[in-house]
Amino acid sequence: MRSRTAQEIWDTALGELQLQVSRANYRTWLEKTKGLSYQENQLILSVPNTFVAEYLDKNLRSLIEKTLMGITQSEVRVGFTVDGRSSTIEAEPVQQASMQAVIPVQGIVSRLNPKYTFDTFVVSNCNRLAFAAACSAADKPGMSSYNPLFIYGGVGLGKTHLLNAIGNAAVTKGMRVIAVSAEQFTNEFVTTAIRERKAEEFRNRYRNTEMLLIDDIQFISGKEATEESFFHVFNELRDADRQIVVTSNCPPHSIPEIEDRLRSRLEWGLSAGIRPPDFETRLAILQAKARKDGVELAPDVLSFIAESIRQNIRELEGSLNRVVAYSRLLRTAVTPELASEALRDISCRQPRTSPAPVLLLETVADYFNLELTDLRGSKRDKQTQFARQIAMYFLREKTNLSLAGIGRELGGRQPIIVSQAHKKISAELATDPAIKETIEALRQKLP
Ligand code: ADP
Ligand code: MG
Repeated sequence: MRSRTAQEIWDTALGELQLQVSRANYRTWLEKTKGLSYQENQLILSVPNTFVAEYLDKNLRSLIEKTLMGITQSEVRVGFTVDGRSSTIEAEPVQQASMQAVIPVQGIVSRLNPKYTFDTFVVSNCNRLAFAAACSAADKPGMSSYNPLFIYGGVGLGKTHLLNAIGNAAVTKGMRVIAVSAEQFTNEFVTTAIRERKAEEFRNRYRNTEMLLIDDIQFISGKEATEESFFHVFNELRDADRQIVVTSNCPPHSIPEIEDRLRSRLEWGLSAGIRPPDFETRLAILQAKARKDGVELAPDVLSFIAESIRQNIRELEGSLNRVVAYSRLLRTAVTPELASEALRDISCRQPRTSPAPVLLLETVADYFNLELTDLRGSKRDKQTQFARQIAMYFLREKTNLSLAGIGRELGGRQPIIVSQAHKKISAELATDPAIKETIEALRQKLP
């Protein structure tokens, strides 16, 4: 067989990456890259500038390498070179990777973030049970009263942090740990078990671990084959008293579209919810972060930020960063007024949260005199199909959802369908005044 060129491999990878990252990220970081050379399992990419090279290196390397592994069936390291020039950021050898502990367990590369430890987790009434259970699971893994440990809560409340803290503690004790998101589990299942027909090998990798950490399990809902495979892995590990920890955005009974037998198993151990932080907790988290970053801020500034951002700890941290950056940029001291300015500035130019997909869908359905269930269902008349395409277009434009995520919001449609709809509407928008009018009218109504 003719060996594939760097550009061919990279084009295939780009096709897959497009399905995995948001459109904005794809455009900013990936669209203008090219495959330059592929030798000895190293793929060199040409990128437009060092900024892009650094971003890809820091944030997308593992996703890129995993995607390439799926395509070439071998471990590939990527290097970046800035358009024609010779400065190349090469893949760090695995042993030296300082950002993330990389623990190969029989072919699974599982990554733990070393920054997420129990020490850096601020405990309060909102997360006390989850924290205590996580400590126990790390301390005495496999005890049936908390096996599985199921941690649930909203976005940015510390689920991934706790999951990694358990993993880091276990690794320190020399345990073999697999930590993957349910999305990675699914991708790996599709690649290994389905595409390569090595279901047995796939299962063996998992059944040999001493601890299994799965982030965002809700992702497998509706993916029957993956769920079935996870169900078997789960049973084998639990029968062998291996600790399993699962996180989700909702409690087991509310995960949509999973089979009852898996649901009931997820409820076997301990479920612990994390609630949004109260004011004191938000303040304590800000203080801890400011201390860690070596920035000094007046108490009233921290209180102001803690008052302004209520739901999400990731946003809370982001706001602190913004305020500090703003004061450095303007070279002025941070006062509550400046903080307010910094946060307002951001919040009007760039909405801090994108609209909830369901609100967006309801608005579109309403506009076309349809029900939400019509958009998600199987009706195929012209009007409904058109409305569905418009909904896909807006979800792509206005939220950070991936193509697959948008497909799920619309009743489980394929990413390729979403991509085609978005392309079609974008093209028609430029040429067809009636469509333009519809889009503009809807834009006014959207949340
Ligand atoms: P989730 O997985 O629930 O969406 P993450 O675990 O990614 O949320 O947390 C988002 C950010 O907030 C991370 O940087 C994390 O370190 C931080 N964080 C969350 N909870 C706490 C906490 N209780 N103490 C300190 N930092 C926290
Ligand atoms: Mg998370």
